[in-house]
This record gives sequence, C-alpha cells and structure tokens, in this order.
Amino acid sequence: MSVRIRLLATGVGMVALAILIVGYTMIVQQRETFERELENKAAVVLAAMAVPCLSALASNRIEDLDLTVEEFQNSMGQSADVEWLSVLDARSRIVGHTDETMYGRLAQDDFASRAAQSPEGLVRIVHEEEGRAMLVSMPLETRFRDLSGIRWGTILARLGMQRADLEMEANIATNLRLLGLFALLTALLLYVTADRVILRPLARLTQAATALGHGDLSFRTGMTGSGEVARLGSTFDLMAGELEKHTQHLERLVDERTGELEATNTNLRRTADQLTQANEKLEELARTDPLTGLFNRRYLKEMLQYYFALARRGGRPIALAMLDVDHFKAYNDTHGHPAGDEVLRAVAETVRERIRSTDIPCRYGGEEFAILFPDTDAAEAFKVVEVLRQRIEDRPFPNEETQPGGVLTVSIGVAGLEPDLRDPVELLQRADAALYRAKGQGRNRTVLNA
Ligand code: GH3
Ligand code: MG
Ligand code: MG
Repeated sequence: MSVRIRLLATGVGMVALAILIVGYTMIVQQRETFERELENKAAVVLAAMAVPCLSALASNRIEDLDLTVEEFQNSMGQSADVEWLSVLDARSRIVGHTDETMYGRLAQDDFASRAAQSPEGLVRIVHEEEGRAMLVSMPLETRFRDLSGIRWGTILARLGMQRADLEMEANIATNLRLLGLFALLTALLLYVTADRVILRPLARLTQAATALGHGDLSFRTGMTGSGEVARLGSTFDLMAGELEKHTQHLERLVDERTGELEATNTNLRRTADQLTQANEKLEELARTDPLTGLFNRRYLKEMLQYYFALARRGGRPIALAMLDVDHFKAYNDTHGHPAGDEVLRAVAETVRERIRSTDIPCRYGGEEFAILFPDTDAAEAFKVVEVLRQRIEDRPFPNEETQPGGVLTVSIGVAGLEPDLRDPVELLQRADAALYRAKGQGRNRTVLNA
C-alpha cells in the first residue's frame, strides 16, 4: 500500500475518531446544559410563586392562593413549558392547582410524597411516551425571625421538555455539522500539509533514485530546507554530485588510458606491419638470386621437393630443364666479368619471357639455370625450352661475335618424371646428364633425357 493511501487512511481514521469523541462529549455537555437551564427556569418560576403562596398559606387565605394560581395560569402562555403547577399544604393536600379538578386531593404519587417530605427542593426527569418532562419542587418555609423554619407546604410543577429537547437536538445537529465541517477542513489541511511536506518530496526522491538507478547521474532533487525530508533530499543531491564527479574522473582516466592504449596499439601495429614487410622482403631475398632476380638454388630444391611429392601422389607429370651458357668462360675472359653479368641478366630475362607464370625459373649457379615445369611432361617442356634456346640464339648480345660460331648460345637438358625415379635429386641428375650430352653433341641444342 502506498504511503499516500496509508496517510489518507490514518488521517480519515483520526478525524473520524476525533469527531466521535468530541461529538459524544458535546452531546453529553449540551444535554446537561439544557437540563440545567430548564432547572433554573423552573427554579425561577417556583421562586416567583413561592412568596405569594407562602403568605397565602401562612395567613390561611386560600382564596389568595386560588387567585395567585389563577394569575399564574393566565400568564402561563409566557412560560409554555410549565404543564401544571400544584401547591400542597403541610399535610400533602392539594390546595392550589392549575387544574381545578385536582383541588382537595391528597398528593399520593411518588414525587409529590418525597417532595412533601424533603427539606430541599427536588428535581426529577421522567421519560414518557410523549417525551421527557421535568418535575420540580420547592418547600414553602418561612425564613424570618421566630417564624423561621416553619414548613407550610410544598410547591410542585411539571415542565414539558419536548420543546427544549427539540431545540437541543437542533442545536446539537448544527454543532455536529459545524464540527464535521471543521474536521473535514482539518483533514484537508493535514492532507495538503502532508502532501507538501512528505509525499511530494518523497515522490521527488523516488524519481531521483530511479534516475540514478538508470545511470542518469546529473539528476538532482533540488530540495532545500532544514526539515528531515528536505535534508534527505539535499544529502541525496550531495551524494549524486560526488558520484557524478567520481564517475567523470573515472571516465576521464579510462579515456586517457584508452588513448594511450590506442597509441600503443597503433605503434605496435605499425611495427608489426614493418616486421611483416621486412619478413616478406627477407623471404623474397632468401629465395631470390640477386643478380638475375630469378629464384635461387635453395628455392628450386624446396619447390622440386614439393612438386615431386605432389606429382607422385596425384599421378601428374613434372619436368625439369637445365640450361648452361656455352663457352661462357671465353666471354668473361674476353669482355670482363661485369659484361658477363649483363649477359646472364639478359639470358634470365629471355627465360622469364618464354615460360608460363606457373613455371619456376632459377639460377642454379654460375652460368647455369634450371626451370621447373609443374603439371607438364618432358615432351611439352622440351618444346618450350627448344623455343627458348632458339630465342637466345637469335637475340643479340653485346660482343657475341667473339664467341665460337659468332653467336652466344645455350645448351639445355630436359628430364621428366619417370616411374623409376626415387627422389627429386635423381630428376636433377637426369636433367644434368641430358645437358652434359647436349654439350657433348656440340652445344646450342636441347637434349631430352630418355
Ligand atoms: P661450357 O660451354 O663447357 O659450359 O664452357 P664454359 O666456359 O661455359 O664453362 P666453364 O665451366 O669452363 O666456365 C664457366 C665460367 O662461367 C667460369 C666463370 O668465369 C663464369 N662464371 C661463373 N659464374 C659467373 C658469374 O657470376 N658472372 C660471370 N660474369 N661469370 C661467371
Ligand atoms: Mg657451366
Ligand atoms: Mg658453360
């Protein structure tokens, strides 16, 4: 149940209880007040009647008494509450009465008997069907000099209380209405005060706590003042402020560290890239012949190993050609080593031009070259290298006219993968043997190892 409803229920309960208590007390007090007022009124009436009645009784002038009662009866309109008035003598006989039929009777009812005996005046309220009534009495006694204390009789009266009761009820109803209105206003005031002092600040606090819970650290209650709830609000704001400051500080730190880390990462990435490039370069250098830019002997061996195994497993052919420049020593000797290098570069260039991109050209050493042909049989390779040999013979080289025969030529030996070959070294040996035969047969030719 919400605080608002509890507060409302408590307020309404308290107000209802207060109305009950105050209302009940008020009714009781009003009743007493009304009764006392009526009693006073009766006392006044009796006192007014007592003097003439006492003198008439004391002087035994009953006719005066009749006159007095008659006068009273005539003036009874002014005091409508008096229903009847009766005068008893010392022996409780009715000697005067507003109802003439009562004359001469002996007053025997309980109240009259007691009143005649009692040295004091009596008051009794009786409840009858037609309403309440008040019976009052007053002893008729002389109070002067030697006649003092002589009881001459009693005067009795009955006052109807219906009018008084009606008046009292109307009075009570008005007062209860006023009380109810007052209670309602009090309850309203209580509620408005509670709403301003407790409920609204509480709702604001709840709102602030919810915002904080959802990560909105900038939310503030904005509450000020010295009350408990206001202090709670301002303390909450203080706490939220500290939290926000602390979080901002942490975020700044995280940003700084993230920046540093990113910079470090960038540096690391750059270094790693440089390292990769350097490694790639190294790798390339490790497999490249620096003079011609072709692959080197080491790489040829690796590739030979790999393609030999692949060809064996897949039943596919491979071929290897060995190429050697004819009479190169003579060229070197005649034109110098650097010119020889130029020739080697030109031969390498022609090799590269004449083979497919999937073939692997290498400088095997000195003026010797090797070409690995994956997925190619010896006959096909033979055709390719024969065209190559022809091309080298045809193409011009600087000062080649000094060579034997007037042209710079090459000899080539070709070998293919045969079933009896056990390893790549044997393939190399066979290609080399074919080259040797090409040299033996007069150079500038291609020999297929068969
Ligand atoms: P053949 O026809 O029998 O092959 O005769 P050749 O003179 O070519 O053979 P030989 O083995 O007698 O001589 C090879 C020459 O190749 C020796 C050397 O001067 C030359 N040579 C080897 N490597 C290089 C090199 O890197 N640069 C240059 N310019 N010459 C080289
Ligand atoms: Mg050689
Ligand atoms: Mg040679």
